[in-house]
Amino acid sequence: MAEEQKKDVKEEKKLEQKQETKEEKPKWIPKTKLGRMVLEGKITSIEEILEKGWKIREPEIVDYLMPDLKVEYVLIGKGGTKGGGKKRLPIKRSVKVTASGRRISYSVMVMVGNGNGIVGIGRGKSKDTRTAFMQALRKAKMNLIYVKRGCGSWECACGGNHSIPYMTEGKSGSVRYVLLPAPKGTGLVVNDEAKKLLRLAGIKDVWSKTFGRTKQHMNLIQALFNALKNLRKYEKAY
Ligand SMILES: [Zn+2]
Repeated sequence: MAEEQKKDVKEEKKLEQKQETKEEKPKWIPKTKLGRMVLEGKITSIEEILEKGWKIREPEIVDYLMPDLKVEYVLIGKGGTKGGGKKRLPIKRSVKVTASGRRISYSVMVMVGNGNGIVGIGRGKSKDTRTAFMQALRKAKMNLIYVKRGCGSWECACGGNHSIPYMTEGKSGSVRYVLLPAPKGTGLVVNDEAKKLLRLAGIKDVWSKTFGRTKQHMNLIQALFNALKNLRKYEKAY
């Protein structure tokens, strides 16, 4: 019996040592082939992944390659009208009435980006706000696009990257979003929610036109995101 116990102790110690050495290395254990390639250093940038059209199926890839990713919320909810004026909130609360009572759920929409051509958006919905946020963030990281920037303004024609190369548009629900190149110094002529996404993408000057129910921020941002995504689709046409 005593010997067996000693063996157990030894094995426990071995396990402890193993865990210690494991902790020295990065904690992330990739679940996908792409993840393993990133960890092995075979892929060193997100641009490379997006260029090849590979799908990112674990957000840790993004954490690893882009530790300085910035996060913004879309104000999709409405606050109380106490004290006048409508306050927009980042969390949308919805109540569903069922046979067993009222069920409350929270929706969150998150935008991520590096301020240099890469952005993503994601939505989350859960019974608690934290889970909804984490879900939205995970989805945004797995939904990244590379935004083609340029200077398509004939007034400017500087050949820089401060605007977009040509007109683009995107749709979501009733909202249609048209983005137009603008000369240097114009700024972002868009609504405040859209400004956040364009800043994350690294676009500084742009004109816009919107149609439909633009107060629906979820559709507004989705339509803008689609417009940015479509810049690549139009690439071949120009
Ligand atoms: Zn320019």
